[in-house]
Amino acid sequence: MKSKDTLQLTSYSKPFSKTDSKERFPRRSFSSALAFTAILFAMLSGCSKDSSLDNSDAQTANTAAADSTSEAVEPIVVYSSRNEHLIAPVFDLFTQQTGINIEYATDKAGVLIERIKAEGQNTPADVLITVDAGTLGFAANQGIFQPLNSELVNQQVATYLRDDNDYWTGLSLRARTIVYSSERVQPDQLSSYSALGEPQWQGKLCLRTSKKVYNQSLVAMLIAEQGEAAAEAVVASWVGNLAIDPLSNDTKVMEAIIAGQCDVGIVNTYYFGRLQSKTPDLPLALFWPNQTEGEQSGVHVNVAGAGILKHSKNAAQAKRLIEWLVSDAAQALFAGVNQEYPVNDQVAVDSQVASWGEFKQSSLPLSQAYVLQPAAVKLMDRAAYK
Ligand code: FE
Repeated sequence: MKSKDTLQLTSYSKPFSKTDSKERFPRRSFSSALAFTAILFAMLSGCSKDSSLDNSDAQTANTAAADSTSEAVEPIVVYSSRNEHLIAPVFDLFTQQTGINIEYATDKAGVLIERIKAEGQNTPADVLITVDAGTLGFAANQGIFQPLNSELVNQQVATYLRDDNDYWTGLSLRARTIVYSSERVQPDQLSSYSALGEPQWQGKLCLRTSKKVYNQSLVAMLIAEQGEAAAEAVVASWVGNLAIDPLSNDTKVMEAIIAGQCDVGIVNTYYFGRLQSKTPDLPLALFWPNQTEGEQSGVHVNVAGAGILKHSKNAAQAKRLIEWLVSDAAQALFAGVNQEYPVNDQVAVDSQVASWGEFKQSSLPLSQAYVLQPAAVKLMDRAAYK
């Protein structure tokens, strides 16, 4: 057990039960306190796996595979905006293979980053895992990471999927691509993201809100590829083709297509995968845009990624965890649990994911997603993309 953690978490250290924790922390805004209380509780109770809380709203803290005998090695503490069900199986395997325990708390990225800043030198955390290069870039810009300095990461992960300044690396790759109604659209009607602004899609396009970082990164990458004026014209043409107001998530985009409200949309592939797992004969299909020979760009990809915290007290083990996460052994599992693609392209993809076909991905450096996001946000505002 780390005594520094106990000290740091004193303000959340009142004993509690599952029931009273719900009463005392009834809202999401208190979830962070809840999560940290749970970490402390897990530590105080001998790191038992049974100390997990009610996790119905995905705000959880827990210990992974905690009955290790490796007293000598400090547990690694991870803050993650990636949900528990996606990280717990991976951490379990790490603990099995190394004997090193991992303690973790999950919450929204913004909450975790603010938490890390507020905790400063006293943070119990060693690693932040979050999704989207824009968010990782924001975290790096807040000064919370230290450089990874890892030969192994550099070998395993392509340069464009890592931070220019080495503060974070991608751990799995997600593609943001076109989804269409397989009942009303022929794939040969589709070609590129930009072409979704053509007159044939008038009143037939559904998009997720521009407030979501995924779309901010997508538009940032359009700016990187085409320049700001051309990217703005594309976004304005999409807005002109919208069938209905932008939707709050990718699944709703697909549901709107199934319901006949629109014919085409843009989604991250793992949301398509989740829907397909529930409904195998989904009347939808994925299309890989920007695949024309000689064209510089390809499918817009993004990452779930991680960095080592500047104030980690266990940085050597934190680095070991990140190196393990990008290793062949862990990549299939880390990417597979969320139907994503390995960042290491030597690793085979999940069979359902493979069934969607191969594609050329854009190799624009993802560090640009953060750099160009302010311009992307302003551009979407000017184009009236809500
Ligand atoms: Fe997502």
